[in-house]
Amino acid sequence: MAQQETDEQINDGFAVDTEDCEERERTHRERGSARPITVVGNPVLHRECRDVTEFDDKLAALIDDMFASQRAAEGVGLAANQIGVDLKVFVYDCPDDEGARHVGVVCNPVLQELPPERRALDDSNEGCLSVPTAYASLARPDYAEVHGQDADGKPIKVRGTGYFARCLQHETDHLYGRLYIDRLSKRDRKDALRQMDEGTPRYETVPND
Ligand SMILES: [Zn+2]
Repeated sequence: MAQQETDEQINDGFAVDTEDCEERERTHRERGSARPITVVGNPVLHRECRDVTEFDDKLAALIDDMFASQRAAEGVGLAANQIGVDLKVFVYDCPDDEGARHVGVVCNPVLQELPPERRALDDSNEGCLSVPTAYASLARPDYAEVHGQDADGKPIKVRGTGYFARCLQHETDHLYGRLYIDRLSKRDRKDALRQMDEGTPRYETVPND
């Protein structure tokens, strides 16, 4: 009799991040505490973060705080530098365009180059907890693949389509010091910053000096 296929074989080595989402997200969030969100202008958002090298309890506690912060700010993804921590790790709780919810964490993410036939651009609205109350249309590939490590340091691969693909690209960008407004035209960037100046965030932020 053939050996039963494991999830990993079925998914071609990609992380299964659509199962037990509610419970996994809640467990992290309830262990952690929400921290205020850094905003554009804070230096920690504008430089590459350090690689994660210690996959220890301290990292696990950071991840719990990130899930708590993400929920408090009603985000679908959060990078560590958005709560002021200079480390390459992001969390996500994000639906894709088929309505599937994805929950997970990636350390030391590297976005994979796509073959030209997979580079279909999707022009959708994008926002960022670190540019509160602003939105702008930004074209990005509608498929993304990120390789990195999980909270224990084990290699993982995450892939997504549609809105979730956008999230994976947006969060990886953060850890390399890039905000989505850095990818906009000068005019659109200015408009996003104006929207931010005029709005009031519904969550706690870290004031810039
Ligand atoms: Zn963001």
